[in-house]
Amino acid sequence: MTRIYLDNASTTPIDHKVLDRMIAVMKDSFGNPSSIHHHGRVSKSIIEDARKKIAYILKASIGEIFFTSSATESINTALKNSVHYLGVKHIISSPTEHHCVFHTLDHLADQYGVTVTYLDVDDKGNPDLTQLETLLHTNPEEKKMVTLMHANNEIGTMLDMKKVGELCQATDTLFQCDTVQSLGKFDINLSETYTSFISGSAHKFHGPKGVGFLYMNMDNIIPPYLHGGAQERNMRAGTENIYGIVGQALALEIAHTEREDHKAHILGLRDHFKQRLTSEFVDIRFNGNQEDHFLYHVLSVSFLSTPKADMLMFNLDISGISASSGSACSSGIASDSHVLTAIGHPSDRKTIRFSFSKYNTLEEIDTVVEKLKSLTPTS
Ligand code: PLP
Repeated sequence: MTRIYLDNASTTPIDHKVLDRMIAVMKDSFGNPSSIHHHGRVSKSIIEDARKKIAYILKASIGEIFFTSSATESINTALKNSVHYLGVKHIISSPTEHHCVFHTLDHLADQYGVTVTYLDVDDKGNPDLTQLETLLHTNPEEKKMVTLMHANNEIGTMLDMKKVGELCQATDTLFQCDTVQSLGKFDINLSETYTSFISGSAHKFHGPKGVGFLYMNMDNIIPPYLHGGAQERNMRAGTENIYGIVGQALALEIAHTEREDHKAHILGLRDHFKQRLTSEFVDIRFNGNQEDHFLYHVLSVSFLSTPKADMLMFNLDISGISASSGSACSSGIASDSHVLTAIGHPSDRKTIRFSFSKYNTLEEIDTVVEKLKSLTPTS
C-alpha cells in the first residue's frame, strides 16, 4: 500500500538536498567547533555560515540568532529567563497556544507566582487585540510580556504580528512570538516587525529533527539557560549539533526562496480538497480563518459525527492516510484539543487536521476524498 502523508504541520519529510549537505558535513567536518585548530575552525565557520543565512532571511543581526535543540527549548528559554532575569511579572497569552507555551506558563504561575492572563478568542481563534491593548495600558509599572503564536498549528489562524509588535513596543512590553509554523512560508522581516523573541524548528520546513533556533532581540539578551562551555556566545553550553544546524539553515533557505511556488502548489491542493469536501459531503465545516490571513498548508475539517466518523483517524490510518485528529488522547479517552475547546468546537463533531507540503499531489487529494466517502456521509 502506498501511504499518503498529510500531517505536515506535525513534521515534514526531509528535503534530499538538505540531507545530502548534512551527510557531506558529517563525513568531512567532524572537528569540534570549539577547538582552535584547523578542524575546529572549519566546523565553526560552517555554524557561523548557517547563522548568517538565518539572520539574513529574517533581516536580523547575526548576534541575535542562537541555535537550540527545538522550538520547545527556545520558547522555554525565552519565557522562563524573561521571568527570572528581566523582571516579568505578568504574561498575556491566548488559550490556543502550543503546549510548550501553555505548560511553561502553568509552571511559571505555579512556581514563581507569575500572573498569566489569557485573552478571549473568537470562534476562529483570533485573540481579542482590543482587550490586549487595554491590558497593556493597565498598571504600567508592572513588567509585562506577551506570548502569542504567529500561526496556529491546529486550525491555521494567523496573528497580525506587526500590530501586536507595535502595541508591545509602545508600552515597553516584551513580545515572544511562536513562529514555528509560519517560518519559511511567510516573509518574516524583523527589521520591520518588533519582537523580542521568535523561535523556529527545522523539522517543520523539511529540515532535520532535534534542531531549532531562538531569535533574541539585542535589547533583551538574557543570561545563559544552559551552563557549561562557551558555545553560542555563552548562551547555550554543549557541543553544537553541527549537522542539524547546517541542515536547518539550508532547509530554511530553500523554503524561503521557493515559498511563492510552494504556496501556489499547496493552495491549489487545499482549494481542490475544500471544494470536493464541500460539494460531495454532508455538513462539512472548516475550523479557523479561511480568508485573508491563514496558514495555507493547514486545513482543519469538522465532520458530522457518525459511528464510522468517530473512528475517522483510525480508519484513515488503516486506509494508508496519515493525518491528525484535533484530539489529545490521554488514558485512552479522546477529547477535543484545548484549541478546539477554546474556539467552541461542538464536541459531537469530529475534527481532522490535514496538512500539506510541496511533495503532495492532486492525485493524493483525490484518493483521500474517495477514502473519506466510505467513512463519512456524502451528499
Ligand atoms: N510551536 C508550534 C506552533 C508547533 O507546532 C510546535 C511543534 O509541534 C512547537 C512549537 C514545538 O516545536 P519543536 O518540535 O521544535 O519542539
